Amino acid sequence: MSATIETFEFQTEARQLLDLMIHSVYSNKDIFLRELISNSSDAMDKRRFEGLKDPALLDEGAELKIRLEPDVEGRTLSILDNGIGMTRDEVIELIGTIAKSGTKEFMGKMKEMKESGNPELIGQFGVGFYSSFMVSDDVTLVTRKAGEDTATKWHSSGDGTYTLEDAERSEAGTTITLHLKEIDEEDQMQDYTEEWVLRGIVKKYSDFVAYPIEMDIVRTEKERNEDGTPKEGGEETTTITPEILNSMKAIWLREQKDVTEEEYSEFYKHISHDWTEPLTRIQGKIEGTMEYRMLLYIPSKAPFDLFQQDGNHGIHLYVRRVFIMDDCKELLPSYLRFVRGVVDSEDLSLNISREILQQDRQIQRMGKGIVNKVLSGLKMLSKKEPEQYATFWTHFGRVLKEGIFQDHENQEALLELSRFTTTNDPEERTSLQSYVDRMKADQEAIYYMTGEDRKKIEASPHLEAFVEKGYEVLILDEPVDEIWTSGVQEYKGKTFANAGRGAVDLGSEDEKKQAEEKLKAKKEEFNSVLDCLKGKLSAQVKEVRLSNRLTSSAACLVTDTDDLSPQMEQMMRAMGQTPPDTKRILELNAEHPLMAKMQGLFDADQSDAKLDDYATLIYGQALLAEGGQLDDPGKFSKLVAELMVQAI
Ligand code: ADP
Repeated sequence: MSATIETFEFQTEARQLLDLMIHSVYSNKDIFLRELISNSSDAMDKRRFEGLKDPALLDEGAELKIRLEPDVEGRTLSILDNGIGMTRDEVIELIGTIAKSGTKEFMGKMKEMKESGNPELIGQFGVGFYSSFMVSDDVTLVTRKAGEDTATKWHSSGDGTYTLEDAERSEAGTTITLHLKEIDEEDQMQDYTEEWVLRGIVKKYSDFVAYPIEMDIVRTEKERNEDGTPKEGGEETTTITPEILNSMKAIWLREQKDVTEEEYSEFYKHISHDWTEPLTRIQGKIEGTMEYRMLLYIPSKAPFDLFQQDGNHGIHLYVRRVFIMDDCKELLPSYLRFVRGVVDSEDLSLNISREILQQDRQIQRMGKGIVNKVLSGLKMLSKKEPEQYATFWTHFGRVLKEGIFQDHENQEALLELSRFTTTNDPEERTSLQSYVDRMKADQEAIYYMTGEDRKKIEASPHLEAFVEKGYEVLILDEPVDEIWTSGVQEYKGKTFANAGRGAVDLGSEDEKKQAEEKLKAKKEEFNSVLDCLKGKLSAQVKEVRLSNRLTSSAACLVTDTDDLSPQMEQMMRAMGQTPPDTKRILELNAEHPLMAKMQGLFDADQSDAKLDDYATLIYGQALLAEGGQLDDPGKFSKLVAELMVQAI
């Protein structure tokens, strides 16, 4: 074994994080212990799970446990576990860097924290191991991976570098030794070598941890008389007894009335590695052909990796109280990937592996039950705590909407849970049910308009007739809206209709009839110039027609009923696909003075070059009005300038 000590630099992000920790940005120092115990507990979960496949990874007869070893004189606290441990490379990868997905977002948060002076924001990221630098100025970690002989020692005093050297450890697992900073009660820094302090923290934050958290309790007893009173001049004896500090009770098995909100919340933090309070909790016990319990949570904020491919799913699977695996993707569809918690089955086999999981019918059935429970939990939240539900929707609505097209069985329930802003109210979101309740007597469909953002949608000419006639339109400004609306036809018997697509038919039967007749007359009046424009714009549009959706604008572009929308085309391109070549329809406002002028121009001289310019201009401005991009902006602006000169 070489005795060389190698020095490494922390990755930039890791160094910045360490700085924050050293300068005590987070007020509650006690939680460093919760973080280290959680890591140890995870490490033992992993060892047990790996041990199912390869029993050689388990030390025969050795109980998996965590030990706390305070040293009053040396002012150190050690946390020992016999979990999976780490190899040298893993130490570099896991401890020297912030390997979390979403590092970029994290850096943004750090900046925000500095600027806002609100360091508690760090809690959103849950920095785990590094929180030990809140209470110590020097940290040593010795670890040995299960199945390997050599151990690695990592050491840092938080100064931007760390060292690694080979070490020895009698069994697999990890020991973390913290050299504690001075006690400073004002700074919430307690004496973490004191038995009562450690006892209190474990009870408060880690009572439910499934492994024993053991500490040697030192008692000094004076020799006693027969009646129990201390004997004068008697000898003092010191006994050291290992004691288990936590009850290890699985919190999801306890009666709800016996568990405090604080305990539930600490359990959430333990499994989710989130430092912030959960938004809500969904609990249930399913009995019958299958029996399982679940204790699930909805976080109060979207995690950084919510939209990353490798983002974590948060379900821990237990079988009869024995931890089987975390990140159990099979139990929840991806549109519920933000849910965190525990599912404990009475029926599954203890040997269930990830490979079997995918085809396991029982797992599929459980998955369905869990989805139902989550959706009904959300429904309840929306009814009982509309404000909390609004917060939920702000953070996770985009993800939940993925379910509308992924999960046909629950489509209706998901539509019911969905919230949208509309042309009526830019702030308050509405449910589809409330929209339907507000629909006008003659209204046939639920109108919506998709687009990049609210402003562009609101400004688009397509909505003119809807707004003027007082029809409420849902504003759908997220990419996922483009997808679900292309597949979903109706909600409770009311069809969805895109305000930017196909022909528009608003009003009572009488009004419609009148509008139709008027349009027919106008068509006759402008027929020849419409044909002329169609000829000139044949490369850009498939039709030029009169509109009944415009009231003030001269023109707009609409997508034909079954064609791909421009946003959908854009999304397909972004995904590396080639969308089919679709042309749109140019709709013109018959009431706009421009129509009569163009008709006049055409009647005077069919070959007037101005008609070409007008065709280019009218198409261009219809494109601009919806936020589109011109093919030839140079030509367009030159034409506009010429027209301005003529007009002045
Ligand atoms: P997090 O726990 O949130 O992933 P940490 O910074 O606390 O972040 O830990 C980073 C990684 O280091 C963990 O995911 C785990 O793989 C590894 N690790 C930390 N502590 C231990 C331990 N006691 N035993 C084994 N691995 C550990």
